[in-house]
Amino acid sequence: MVAMRHWSLRQQVTLLVGVLCLALVCVLAAGAAYIAQSRVRQIVMSNEAHDAALTTSTLDRGMFERYREIRNLAAMPPLKDIWRGDPTVIRQVLEQLRTSYPDYAWIGYVTPEGTVRAATQGMLEGQSVQARPWFQDGLKGPAVGDVHEAKLLAALLGPGPNNEPFRFVDVAAPVRDESGRVVGVIGAHLSWTWAEERRQTILRSQARSNGKSIWILSGDGTMLLGPSIGSRPFTDEQIRAMRQARTGAFEDPSGPEPMLTGYAVADGYKDYPGLNWIVISRQPDSIAFAATKGIVWTIIGLGCVIALAGLICALFIARGVARPLQAIIQAADKIGRDPTISQVPRVTGSLEIIRLSAALRSLLRRAGAAEQQVIEVASQREKDVTALRQLAETDALSGLLNRRGFSLLADDAFTLSRRSERSLAVLLLDIDLFKRVNDTYGHAAGDAVIQAVGTVLTKALRSSDIIARFGGEEFIVLMHAVDANGIITVAQNLRRAIEALSIKHQDQNLSVTISVGGAMARLEDRDIQDVIERADGALYKAKAAGRNRVVVDGLQIQLATAVA
Ligand code: GH3
Ligand code: MG
Ligand code: MG
Repeated sequence: MVAMRHWSLRQQVTLLVGVLCLALVCVLAAGAAYIAQSRVRQIVMSNEAHDAALTTSTLDRGMFERYREIRNLAAMPPLKDIWRGDPTVIRQVLEQLRTSYPDYAWIGYVTPEGTVRAATQGMLEGQSVQARPWFQDGLKGPAVGDVHEAKLLAALLGPGPNNEPFRFVDVAAPVRDESGRVVGVIGAHLSWTWAEERRQTILRSQARSNGKSIWILSGDGTMLLGPSIGSRPFTDEQIRAMRQARTGAFEDPSGPEPMLTGYAVADGYKDYPGLNWIVISRQPDSIAFAATKGIVWTIIGLGCVIALAGLICALFIARGVARPLQAIIQAADKIGRDPTISQVPRVTGSLEIIRLSAALRSLLRRAGAAEQQVIEVASQREKDVTALRQLAETDALSGLLNRRGFSLLADDAFTLSRRSERSLAVLLLDIDLFKRVNDTYGHAAGDAVIQAVGTVLTKALRSSDIIARFGGEEFIVLMHAVDANGIITVAQNLRRAIEALSIKHQDQNLSVTISVGGAMARLEDRDIQDVIERADGALYKAKAAGRNRVVVDGLQIQLATAVA
């Protein structure tokens, strides 16, 4: 399950459906096999019971025919005189009967004393059968005798089929005179092979008789016809139960393989009372299994086809679900990377996917609005910061850079000049005796003078030069790419421009001069402060020398020139 988490939706759905289909097919096949097998078992058992009943009915009818034949023969009025007459004639009658039904092995007419008077093929004629049960029964009325081995006939008939001793069923009926007195007994030995033939006929009529067997048991459960004659394949209790139920079926587990066993008790037909033979018809249980095998394979085959169809459907469904998701994922992945994509696409698919796409679109819209707000705030902040910085770096009175603003630019300029090996110079300019202006004309006049001096200085300089109000009435200029002569020229120009300046303030014309101290940056300077210090030193010298003049650091000679 943990490994499955990393599978795609399609793989997961397909696997789950596959496993589900397989499980379903297995359950169906097992269920169908179970139901079919128990159903087939029931059908087979009921068929076996039916076959057993059919066999008993055939046997009973056969016995009934023989029973009626012998009884009719004994009671037939035209034959009354014949029985008392010539044995040859009696024999002829008996032979005729035997010819019509060859399963009679022997038919004889016996005197009430038990001596055979005439018999088919003359067998046993003159011999006494007085002790035979059939004779004794026959004296009393029409009778049938159960299956027994041939006793007297055995020697005459020779060995039976398969060298087995002949076995017979006896039928006997008394012959009476007009007064009803018994004058003789007609007895017939019916060869037991007729039962075998009936059995074979029924077995042959079965389309599928693999392993099927039909047994005939006597009323007490002894095998009369079947694999081991004389054996008792069932317990007395089973026999009792069968005789009680008359017909039915059960599963006999006693043998090497369970047998589906049907049985029926032969209880006669019409006035033939029957001998309570029990006919057993059985088949191995494996026949039920074999019958259901086909059903199970058919279900497995069909199940596999359905499972395959299910899998294909699952694949399509999963693809239908996964495709719009894939589109959303791809778009979401590109947002922020690809400037042309800023939104997830509107997809078609299941309701949840449509809702997901709509929710994502809405989320992105809200995120976009929030982002815009953040950008606007940031830009406003930037503007504010710039304005503040400008404010912080600008002198309010003159509009020039203040000391702080100058220092920032001057530091950068110094570093740059060092790197590019360009020359750099600083001029410090101070209004001479400014205190007097304040004192004489007032502070406002002083302010006006500062403003006017700042404006004139700015105009007189190049745009690449940096000018700032450095202190109260002190200005500073930073210049690039100038030599010592250049500084002097610029400084003198500035000094002259101020000297020539007339400042109008409240109907008064004011004029001031400035002193200028200059310095060129040198290799040993550590920073711009070193240059400014030297320029300050030069300014001090200019003041000391009488003001309204230019002094450049290290150029003593220029002092006189500057005054001119
Ligand atoms: P010098 O430089 O020639 O030696 O004489 P000074 O009178 O100019 O010297 P000092 O530095 O002593 O005087 C500067 C005066 O400038 C002092 C101060 O009151 C005045 N001051 C400074 N800042 C301002 C300002 O912003 N406005 C006005 N009106 N006056 C200012
Ligand atoms: Mg001054
Ligand atoms: Mg000053």
